[in-house]
Amino acid sequence: MAKESSSNKKSLTEIEGIEQPSTIGVASIKAIQKLRKQSIDIDALINELLKGDIPSLSRAITFIESTRPQHLPIAQKIIQSCLPYANNSVRIGITGVPGVGKSTFIEAFGLYLTSIGKKVAVLAIDPSSTISKGSILGDKTRMEDLVKSNQAFIRPSASGNSLGGVSRKTRESIILCEAAGFDTILIETVGVGQSETAVHSMTDFFLLLNLAGAGDDLQGIKRGIMEMADAIVINKADGDNIERARHAKLDANRGLQLFPLKESGWKPKVLLASAYYKKGIDEVWQLIEEYVQNTKSNGYFESHRKEQNIYWLKEAINEQLLMQFYEHPLIAQQIEKEEQLVLSNEKSPFESANYLLELYNGLLQNKKTQS
Ligand code: GDP
Repeated sequence: MAKESSSNKKSLTEIEGIEQPSTIGVASIKAIQKLRKQSIDIDALINELLKGDIPSLSRAITFIESTRPQHLPIAQKIIQSCLPYANNSVRIGITGVPGVGKSTFIEAFGLYLTSIGKKVAVLAIDPSSTISKGSILGDKTRMEDLVKSNQAFIRPSASGNSLGGVSRKTRESIILCEAAGFDTILIETVGVGQSETAVHSMTDFFLLLNLAGAGDDLQGIKRGIMEMADAIVINKADGDNIERARHAKLDANRGLQLFPLKESGWKPKVLLASAYYKKGIDEVWQLIEEYVQNTKSNGYFESHRKEQNIYWLKEAINEQLLMQFYEHPLIAQQIEKEEQLVLSNEKSPFESANYLLELYNGLLQNKKTQS
């Protein structure tokens, strides 16, 4: 049906919605048949992934990122099979405003890590990709040298409708990368807000890249992001910029003192680096190693990961509940009516919310008695 007509006349969209199930039914029968045929392939895919085969890892992540309902059982099977082999890595979150040098840094850092025998996976959470479908790692020209290394795996940010959904996919991709033998996971995000919290909740160490010569305000770095940092690296500490970088280091150190001691017992450090000239990169890794050693011996590393698992359990429940609620056809229909009632002051938002939630509960009860 023409797009135009469905957007002009809401009732037409609803009729379309009712017509759809028969086609979905046929499609899902076909999908299940296909899945049965594919099941041997999926086992082979998992086996290859566990051996560290990069194309298989890539294909497996595509299943994780897929929004097609028929891929969901495949994705679940892959995650289930990978879980026993996951967890054996250091997960590092890297943030900073656009232009600070994140991709240059990740390339230099990744190349350094592969040179000392590490296997590095680079993933990204990009809130802008959920809106514009763009991607911070989407540009193929970025990280040209690291891409060529067979010790490295680079995956552009997953796209999706919500930051929650994208974050979950990234978190599940971490599990797959670890099962494929990647021992150092770098997760990049743009320093603009919410996505940092998501990255922080899936990493062991959080690194903030800053610039010299620009105040925190200019860099758009929020206090909350600085508070999350385990280390601040002042990048572009080269050429004429060195003196300014030293000042920035003092400023950042002063800023960090304002925050209370971290639960990890770790005191965040400030380092200077030049990602472009590959200077100060090894110091960043030494610092991370020190952090891992400290937090493993005081038990924080393990307890923090457990806490993160519980956080993700709850996030997954929240995400599913919201999706089931909002995607229920009757709720979707009623919400519009309730919105009008709220707008015309005939009902309070709370009254409307209660009504919709009770309606949804009723629908669940009906479904239960029917089955
Ligand atoms: P991102 O947007 O944070 O990923 O930043 P990029 O890595 O794309 O870098 C932005 C610009 O800064 C590019 O022109 C880089 O060449 C430059 N750049 C990155 N790191 C350094 C550095 O350490 N020193 C200097 N002088 N320039 C750098």
